[in-house]
Amino acid sequence: MTALREAGPARGAVLEARDVSVVPDGARREILSGASLGIRAGEVHALIGPNGAGKSTLFGVIAGDVVPTSGSVHLDGVALAAYRPRDLARRRAVLLQQNAVSFPFTVAQVVAMGRAPWARTPLTDEDDEAIAAALRETDIVDLAERTVPSLSGGERARAALARVLAQRTDILLLDEPTAALDLRHQEDVLTLAVQRAREGAAVAVVLHDLNSAMAHADRVTLLSHGRVVATGIPSEVLTAERIEEVYGQAVDVFPHPKTGVPVVTPRRHGR
Ligand code: ADP
Ligand code: MG
Repeated sequence: MTALREAGPARGAVLEARDVSVVPDGARREILSGASLGIRAGEVHALIGPNGAGKSTLFGVIAGDVVPTSGSVHLDGVALAAYRPRDLARRRAVLLQQNAVSFPFTVAQVVAMGRAPWARTPLTDEDDEAIAAALRETDIVDLAERTVPSLSGGERARAALARVLAQRTDILLLDEPTAALDLRHQEDVLTLAVQRAREGAAVAVVLHDLNSAMAHADRVTLLSHGRVVATGIPSEVLTAERIEEVYGQAVDVFPHPKTGVPVVTPRRHGR
């Protein structure tokens, strides 16, 4: 796999990974190799790439949950490792790809956990409003008293997202928030991500749907085999040639007749 374009860290990034590599304990090879990524205030930054490309690993590194074998991560210019967990939790909220809640907590209880970093601060005054807003934004008001294990996969995913939103941080890191969602809820979540960014938040989101990335992301970073292949504005990064090379799937990319936003479709012979 050839590097199609070298990725430099974004200028003005609030959260910046530079030349990060990860070799898991007991593993022999890097699952992330020299990856750089900058998350800026005011932008939705989509992380794209095939299964196993290293998206969740890079995500874990910028979230501070995975310690890189080499390279650095800085938040507001300060090494991530220098932050206390509580201070980190007041700056960034993380939706993990695996967000299973196995105890029979209610949705309202789980969403309220998002407020934990603000305990014993004046911002506890916002708790009720933040929880109510998060339930509304994820369309689960009616599910508030249900236990999480009783929910459908998509409902559970929205409850997990609501908890993250209730945390009210100015950095949002969302690993596949739309994977289990129906069409409307996918659009709702990405519209919300854009809205948060326009209000000044820095949003990073792992996505599989290239069309969602084209339509909603300000910037995309394409990963393949643990390396950043390209980073930039979606229409420049997600060309047909690059998608074909990275995914091994022939595609057509053409402008949407109404919006002009590029649309990606797999090439299907004879249909
Ligand atoms: P993605 O989120 O892009 O699908 P991941 O970042 O989860 O990919 O994983 C990248 C690759 O690293 C995958 O091939 C995965 O199997 C492998 N991997 C992840 N964690 C470990 C680990 N602890 N030990 C060995 N391999 C791992
Ligand atoms: Mg993943």
